[in-house]
Formats: sequence, C-alpha cells, structure tokens
Amino acid sequence: MTEFGYNIHEDLMIDHDRPSPAFEAVLEKVPSISWCIACGSCTGTCICSDQTGSGFRKLVHFLRNGMYDKLKKTLAYCQFCGKCSLVCPRGINTRKAILEMKKYFNLYSNDIA
Ligand code: SF4
Ligand code: SF4
Repeated sequence: MTEFGYNIHEDLMIDHDRPSPAFEAVLEKVPSISWCIACGSCTGTCICSDQTGSGFRKLVHFLRNGMYDKLKKTLAYCQFCGKCSLVCPRGINTRKAILEMKKYFNLYSNDIA
C-alpha cells in the first residue's frame, strides 16, 4: 500500500463502532441514550452551560468516546434540574442517564449526612 505520510494513532482514534465500556454500561440502563442526534437543544437550555460550558450533548460525546477525565469534570457541574430532558426532541431520559454516569464513576451518593 502507498504511504501518504499519515499515520493512525490508536490512542487518538475515535471509533463510533466501538463505544467505551462506560457508554455500554449506561446504554444498558438507559437505552434511549443511543437515540441522540447531537442537536444541542439540551445544551442550549442547560442552566449551567453559560458559566461552565457543560451540557448533556457534551456528556454523551465524552462518554461515548471514553474521555473520562473530561466527563467526570463536566458531570460535577450538573444540577440535576432536568431541563435538558424537557427539550430533547428524541425523548431521551437525560436525567436518568446522568445519574447512571455518576453511579458508574462512583460520583453519586444519596446518603444524607
Ligand atoms: S437534545 Fe436530545 S437529541 Fe439533542 S443533543 Fe441533547 S440529548 Fe441529543
Ligand atoms: S439536568 Fe444537568 S445537564 Fe441537564 S439541564 Fe440540568 S444542569 Fe444541565
């Protein structure tokens, strides 16, 4: 095969046919997460996106592609208000998906101190 001077770096590769283990785990609990069309309506209505640059669409992107450090940082901004689920044209249970992401990374506790 002819070399064109480009190489594939496995560690930088995004393969949508191979979602991350965390995405698979959340998908099992919230199958509707696979319906996301990345329209951005959720981010447009997110109460903390202006200040933090976060939003549900970004969470899905980080989750699907195994960008866990960024995912965990962005998850910390979510206030669980549920506005994103009200505007999603695909009817995705965003709030439940966020909860499952937090549980996967042990970032959720319902203990009352
Ligand atoms: S509003 Fe729904 S379909 Fe659009 S990006 Fe957000 S989760 Fe995906
Ligand atoms: S539930 Fe979280 S991600 Fe969704 S709109 Fe509220 S703060 Fe934003």
